[in-house]
Amino acid sequence: MLEYQAILEEIAHEIQPFLNEGNVASYIPELANVMPTHFAMSLMCVDGRSFHVGDYEKRFSIQSISKLFTLAMAMQRVDESLWERIGKEPSGSAFNSLIQLEYENGIPRNPFINAGALVVTDIILTHLKDAHATVLEFLRTLTQKDDINFDFHVAKSEAATGYRNQAMANFLKSFGNLEHEPSRVLNAYFHHCAIAMNTQELARAGLFLANQGIQPWLKEPVLTPRQAKRINALMLTCGTYDSVGDFAYRVGLPAKSGVGGGILATLPNHFTICVWSPRLNSKGNSYAGTKALELFTTKTKLSIF
Ligand code: GLU
Repeated sequence: MLEYQAILEEIAHEIQPFLNEGNVASYIPELANVMPTHFAMSLMCVDGRSFHVGDYEKRFSIQSISKLFTLAMAMQRVDESLWERIGKEPSGSAFNSLIQLEYENGIPRNPFINAGALVVTDIILTHLKDAHATVLEFLRTLTQKDDINFDFHVAKSEAATGYRNQAMANFLKSFGNLEHEPSRVLNAYFHHCAIAMNTQELARAGLFLANQGIQPWLKEPVLTPRQAKRINALMLTCGTYDSVGDFAYRVGLPAKSGVGGGILATLPNHFTICVWSPRLNSKGNSYAGTKALELFTTKTKLSIF
């Protein structure tokens, strides 16, 4: 039996020199107000065991990790027609790039780049009375934590400076790939990105992805095994920005990262692992977080490969 707690502690120690590498995201001004040297790691096994190290109780802005949960919600409500509006291929360009969208007639490459997530948000707006509240409720149910909430400062800060996302939403609308007004889609999207959670809560929330769609403490499955498999496949191929190849090479786990410095990864049928450290590498993934996951899969020899 692997000594997970000892391994996490070893990693927390070895990661120290890397905590000064990279830069905290500042294009959303409020995200820069974080102590850059935070580090946390949480492992949640499908058998219920969990292990944590560092600042695992400190909440941070989950940003694009929310795209996993909004995609799961859309897949619960919409059939294959979802994929008529969004692709399933890595983009090979930045998460907020506009160029590809023009060439590809307003069909985003995948649900994990911003354009794709805006379409996912548009879809859930069609099916929900209140997309703000229902996403929060979903995360509260998944974690069984009633106090998970938006960080309204972050949502406001992004709304005030999100010109690129505004351009993207307008662009999608011009191609007929948004049903709702861009401002409504953006407002919901900015709030989803601004949800605050810690590594312990994220590892717990994502467990269904590693467990064939089942959240052990809930009566109903969250997704079918096939849907969970599909989200994992998209995480592996599209989940870590324009460096999915490097990430798969170094870490070897399906993962979704966010510019708040969090990364949620899975080893299907075994565990979820969430890491947080706010300084990012040039592609937008947590610098020390990626390194910590690489150390974890190297030390444990556990990966999907
Ligand atoms: N809210 C951020 C944006 O739309 C999310 C980016 C990310 O975490 O990838 O720019």
